[in-house]
Parts: sequence; C-alpha cells; structure tokens
Amino acid sequence: MAKPAVLVTGGLGYIGSHACVALAEAGYRPVIVDNLGNAKASVLERIRELTQSDISFHRADVRERQALGALLARERVQAVLHFAGWKAVGESVEKPVMYYENNVGGTIALLAAMAEHGVRRLVFSSSATVYGEPERLPLTEDHPLRPVNPYAKNKLVIEHILADCAVADAGFHYAALRYFNPIGAHPSARLGEDPRGVPNNLLPYVAQVAVGRRPSLRVWGRDYATPDGTGVRDYIHVMDLAQGHVAALAYLERRARSITANLGTGRGYSVLEVVSAFERASGKSIPLEFHPRRAGDVAQSYADASFAARELGWRARLGLEAMCRDAWRWQSGNPEGYPD
Ligand code: NAD
Ligand code: UDP
Repeated sequence: MAKPAVLVTGGLGYIGSHACVALAEAGYRPVIVDNLGNAKASVLERIRELTQSDISFHRADVRERQALGALLARERVQAVLHFAGWKAVGESVEKPVMYYENNVGGTIALLAAMAEHGVRRLVFSSSATVYGEPERLPLTEDHPLRPVNPYAKNKLVIEHILADCAVADAGFHYAALRYFNPIGAHPSARLGEDPRGVPNNLLPYVAQVAVGRRPSLRVWGRDYATPDGTGVRDYIHVMDLAQGHVAALAYLERRARSITANLGTGRGYSVLEVVSAFERASGKSIPLEFHPRRAGDVAQSYADASFAARELGWRARLGLEAMCRDAWRWQSGNPEGYPD
C-alpha cells in the first residue's frame, strides 16, 4: 500500500526538518514546501540522507494558493503539518504587516487550497506565547489568552480561524500544538538549529559561545522572582516535539476531532541551570554578562503537559542533559551551521 502523503510546509526549517524525519520513520511520505526564506537548500539533502528516501521538495510560498492546490492534488496529500511562517518576536513588532501577511495570510491560502482539494486534516505550529504573562503556573490550555506582540497575536488569530473552519466543516479536523521552548538537534548531528545572524534564543546563543563564535552570553535579567533570579522556561527536545506531531496526526485519524494542546515537558529550568547543563555536556565554559531584563520577557513559563499525555498519548521523554548533548553535537559538528 502507498504511504500516506503529508504536506510539510516550512519543512526545511528547524522543527519541520526534524518532523519530516519522524514522519518518514512513522511510515508517512513527507512532501515538503518551503520558500527558503529562512532555510538553506542543503537541509533537504540531510533529510534525504537520514530517511534514505527521495523526499519530494517544492520550492514555493504557501501564499501561492493555486500552486499549493495543484501540489495537494498531484501528490495525493492526506494531511498537512503547517510550520511555515516567520518567528522573530522583535521583528514582528517592527513589521507587523509583514507578519500578518505571511503567517495569517499564508495559513488562509493554505486552508483555501485544502478546502478546494478535500484535504481535511491539519496540524498547526502554535506557541505557548499565546498565553502572554502567566496568571498561574503550570500553564493549562484553558489559561486566559493574552498575547502581547504581533507574532503571538498571529498565532492566536490562526487558532481562531482554525476553530471557525472546524465549525463550518464537520469533516475538517485540526490540532493546534502550543510549543514551549524547542531546543536540541537530531542525535546524528546532521540536523539542528541554524539561525541567521545573532541568535535571539538562548540555546543557539549558548552553543555559539561554546564553539567560539561569540565571546560571552548576555543574561537578560537576574532579578526575576525565580530561585536564581533568571528566567525560567520549559525546554523541550526537538525530537520529542517532532514525535508530538506524529501523535497529533494519529489522533486526527483515530478520533476525527480537533484538539488544542501544549507540547512541553512540564518542567522549567532557569537560564543559569541551562548554562550549567550545557557546560557539562560540552566541557566548555560559558562566560556570562548580566544585563537588565529584555522587554516583553516573562519570569517563568512552563506547561501542564498532562492534556497531551492523556489525549494524544504523547509525552516528552528526553531531559535537559540530552537536549544540551544533542545541541552541542550539532554545533560542534557544524560550527557555521548548514553549508550554503
Ligand atoms: P524556521 O524559521 O526554522 O522554519 C520555518 C520555515 O518556514 C523556514 O524554513 C522558512 O523558509 C519557511 N517559510 C516561512 N514562510 C514561508 C512561506 N510563506 N511559504 C513557504 N515557506 C515559508 O522556524 P521553526 O523554529 O522551525 O518554527 C516552525 C514553526 O513553529 C513556526 O510557525 C514557528 O512560529 C513555530 N514555533 C516555533 C518555536 C521555536 O522556538 N522555534 C516555538 C513556538 C512555535
Ligand atoms: N535569554 C538570555 N540571553 C539570551 C537569550 C535568552 O538570557 O541571549 C533568556 C531569556 O531572557 C529567557 C530565556 O533565556 O529568560 C529563554 O529565552 P528564549 O529567547 O530562548 O525563549 P523565549 O523568551 O521566547 O521563551
């Protein structure tokens, strides 16, 4: 029997590339669409190498509705994992229209193409940032949603659009997955996170310090109401996250209903705890500079991960040690990231 084809938008990106490998391992046939806006073409070769298969790739923009529709039909797509979008919070504050256009506009074009071609299962990359400043912890899915920047609002608007589509078409089912902080890399060190320019996120920055690309880590704030004063986040291994998508697809197939779920570990770590774990994993020391808080940061954010465990039958398995080990393997094996 032919393997079911799953369209992966943004499949050459950090999370999408790992999800393609997990999909292939689970017996699906990933079909990648990416406009290379934030990815390098060499990622495709790495995915093909790891999956030992000639994964199909289409360089296209998800906003090109006709092209997308033709692809859904030609590849006989059964379901979509939708990762494509811009993700830099600061940039979204400076260029909100660009963010709404790509993230919301891209999703609308995708949904229209899916409706036209009878593709009725979608897994969407949402984010824990939709919760805004936590009122209580851990964050449960019914926590109030008060996104504080355009990027986070994009995610919430898309969640609303998906809910409306599910009301309008009883046969359309989606999973909105609210990721916490994905870090780490494929254990082979062939795939990993390769941000352009100066990394905004903690882990890629720490990894670049460890490999000698940057002199020291700037710690944003040591006066939070947390045990050591630095910000606490729920870091999740990207391989666990990728598996969460396979579990969500299976849920849509099995249960034929929509779901919105946190994907996190349920455990928070401070910046200093992450730095120590990374020092242990890499054997390198990470010089620190303490700076004032970064605008828009919350003190703590971590998931109640029990809903996903109950409904999707999925839970994160890999701890901080494995996350740092694999991030270091990736960074030390590919100090400048992917080749051009
Ligand atoms: P990424 O930038 O590495 O991957 C996104 C991919 O989408 C890139 O390869 C980019 O080229 C592509 N893309 C962007 N716009 C496109 C378009 N219009 N048409 C086709 N391709 C397009 O980001 P990532 O970290 O892999 O994140 C994937 C998704 O998960 C994003 O939607 C992001 O908002 C969400 N998310 C990420 C995090 C995180 O910390 N990485 C956390 C929560 C949610
Ligand atoms: N952080 C830091 N220095 C950096 C990047 C991040 O101290 O160069 C801190 C940040 O203030 C937060 C945590 O690390 O407390 C995680 O930040 P990241 O940007 O990775 O994730 P997010 O803030 O989006 O949860």
